[in-house]
Amino acid sequence: MKRIRKLSLAIPIYNEEQTLPLLRKELESSVKRLRVEDELEVEVILVDDGSQDASYSYMVNWADQDPNLKVIKLSRNFGHQVALTAGMDAATGDAVVSLDGDLQDPPEVIRELIQKAEEGFDVVYARREEREGESFFKKSTAWLFYRMMKTMIHRELPEDAGDFRLITGEALEAYRSLREKHRFLRGLSTWIGFRQASVLYKRPARQAGETKYPTHKMLRLAWNAATSFSTLPLTIVTVWGSIVSGFGLLYLLYAISRHIFVGDTVQGWSTIVVLLCLIGGSILMGLGVVGSYVGKIYEEVKDRPLYFVQTRLNFDEEASLDYHHSEQGVHVSRFVGFGHRS
Ligand code: UDP
Ligand code: MG
Repeated sequence: MKRIRKLSLAIPIYNEEQTLPLLRKELESSVKRLRVEDELEVEVILVDDGSQDASYSYMVNWADQDPNLKVIKLSRNFGHQVALTAGMDAATGDAVVSLDGDLQDPPEVIRELIQKAEEGFDVVYARREEREGESFFKKSTAWLFYRMMKTMIHRELPEDAGDFRLITGEALEAYRSLREKHRFLRGLSTWIGFRQASVLYKRPARQAGETKYPTHKMLRLAWNAATSFSTLPLTIVTVWGSIVSGFGLLYLLYAISRHIFVGDTVQGWSTIVVLLCLIGGSILMGLGVVGSYVGKIYEEVKDRPLYFVQTRLNFDEEASLDYHHSEQGVHVSRFVGFGHRS
């Protein structure tokens, strides 16, 4: 059995002024329990993902009162997955738990995650047993999403697991070494392998505020997930293209024989238009999908950092000195605050 000594919690925060006070209360009691009862060293890292409301000033205040709270402010909104990455990068614990800031990932489940990890697992997912207070639309799209992702990304992708998970040991290093730009962290954490397990929990409703994942962001996440892990969309388009062209070919044969044997082909005009549309449509569709992959290649080739850190609070002196005095003014030795890891 392995023993976890230091635990880091990485929590992305985007416009959560309403949930932060609740989060603070909840964390203070559960972190205390982890410290006292489980004798763990606990580090909490909040990543402010370019919030426009009072979230950051709340965090500054909190960090001021609690030296154990670390805060990273990103230079703008980079999105949930990148914010989470920034938190994981900065973590110094030998196990890192990522969770949402809206208390939908209840901190008391962390204990179960740790237990599983200490049984010898490297990646432990918290899987949702039930969703409370989410619309039928969100539930059904989430259901469909997880099933589709399983076929496209990885057979082993756990169903109904969000970004609430614990990673430790070699898996943590492996996971951190993945620096691709279009990140689907759930897929990445499954893809790395090692020993994986999950624990079940009931997902409560958001405590306050509203979801920061409107439908278009969810669709983008799904599309990113699909295209950064599989080429199935390319295959689907190829198959669809061949079906449409095959149909066109058959229709051509039919039209020719009709011309020879019946001789009434003038009315065929409308069907030609239909066919043109069909074929043109599938070409465009194919181009669109290919274009999306090319776009991803472009992003990877530019190799920009995943994020920029604007301010860090309660990080040790040394790291912040490095930050200010490095040559380009951008590189940090340990935690490379610009989304690159050397
Ligand atoms: N979040 C973020 N950047 C974003 C969107 C969301 O850091 O661009 C954070 C948000 O503050 C929350 C977590 O990611 O802590 C999950 O977001 P949310 O609860 O809105 O997603 P949902 O649970 O509705 O899928
Ligand atoms: Mg939520």
